[in-house]
Amino acid sequence: MAVDVECTISLPQVARVTRSIRRSTASPETVTHSTVATPPAEGGEDPRGVPLSKKSDLIQDLVKKVKLPNPLPDPGVEGTLLERGMYAVLLRELPETRARSAVAALRSKYEDYNETRVSQAQEIALAIAPKGKGLERLGKYLPAARLVKQYLQAIFQEVHGLDLEGLGEDPVGVGRQLASIDMLGAAVTSYLLFVSEGGELPVLAGNVRVLDRINAMSRTSSVRKARELLNPLIKPQDRLSVSYTIGLVADQWCDSRKPVCWECPFLDACPNGKKVFKDWKVQQERLAKQRKKEEARAVALAKKEEARAKRDAEREAKAQLAAEKKRLKERQRLEKAKAKQDEIRRKKLAAEKAAEQKKAAAKKAAKKKAPAKKKAAKVTKKKAAKVTKKKAAKVTKKKAAKVTKKKAAKVTKKKAAKVTKKKAPAKKKAAATKKAAATKKAAKKPAASKKTAKKKATKKKAKGRR
Ligand code: SF4
Repeated sequence: MAVDVECTISLPQVARVTRSIRRSTASPETVTHSTVATPPAEGGEDPRGVPLSKKSDLIQDLVKKVKLPNPLPDPGVEGTLLERGMYAVLLRELPETRARSAVAALRSKYEDYNETRVSQAQEIALAIAPKGKGLERLGKYLPAARLVKQYLQAIFQEVHGLDLEGLGEDPVGVGRQLASIDMLGAAVTSYLLFVSEGGELPVLAGNVRVLDRINAMSRTSSVRKARELLNPLIKPQDRLSVSYTIGLVADQWCDSRKPVCWECPFLDACPNGKKVFKDWKVQQERLAKQRKKEEARAVALAKKEEARAKRDAEREAKAQLAAEKKRLKERQRLEKAKAKQDEIRRKKLAAEKAAEQKKAAAKKAAKKKAPAKKKAAKVTKKKAAKVTKKKAAKVTKKKAAKVTKKKAAKVTKKKAAKVTKKKAPAKKKAAATKKAAATKKAAKKPAASKKTAKKKATKKKAKGRR
């Protein structure tokens, strides 16, 4: 049954298609993409006039060039779509029969695959590994166990559940979702679409993109029209292998925006790839030139750095040498100063020693002379004592004499006073007499003086006449 639904295309493509529909006045059924293909023309040619057999051969030849990394999944495997996807993913790590039995083992061990999703990888490995002993056996199945966990987790995140049965009802929407999961891609999704749609040719945006780029078909956004274009080119028995292989090319090399054409096995037959490859080559040459320039610049820079480092090293060596010289000079100066100080100290010590020796000698000599000195001192002392004694005696004598004299004087004075006292009335009388006499004499004296003065004046007059 032909499904008239839109092909899985990217969001910008959807927007372009939507704009195209709005602009067009034609009925929605006739308007799809700007590069919408028309069904093959009568007589075995496509709209571009290329014979269909030629295109079919091209697809067959190209598909043969791709070496599949794992065996093609068997569409006859029993189980749900989730289990079949798991089986297809497990083929990357396990042989075909082991992948089948692993899925069966997980089915019997877990009631719910959500439980498997949250289980430890070791636990899953234990479930999928063949029965036997030894940890080595488990280690061998750990990568496959991790793959199962990653697969379930990716599905859970993208579909918000672990049920893929909706793929049969909405192959475009769910197919697009599944193809966007990295670990499934267009290849595993093609397989799931093939089994869910009962052997119909899987049509995914990635596959259509590759076939369009290799000129095997014109790009279309309609799954029905894409099938109409591709069905004459691909035999029914090759539908799975071709779509799986083309899906693998889309996943690995033919990115919608940045295809890795220079690594793609379709490059020789892909006009688009040749163009991309040419641009890439030019870019590589440019990059190589740039790299060369950068390398030359790096070499020049390294040389510069080396020269600078050399200069720095020389400068450093010079500075070290100067510092070494300075240190040497300083050490010599310090040694000289120390030697000088040592000499001064030595001289001082020698002088002190000499002085001590001298002192000791003097002491010794003094010790030797001590008895004589003592004797002399004794003598001197005696002499001094004698002199002192003499002096003291003299002084005592003098004092005694003085005292005696004083006493005598006192006695004499007393005596004299007594005598005077006794003689005082007579004396007083004599004094009074003397006074009276003197007064009498004084009274006579002016007359005598006058006589004398007369005589002198007469004499003078006589002298003047002569
Ligand atoms: S050669 Fe490039 S464009 Fe062509 S199919 Fe390969 S990846 Fe895509």
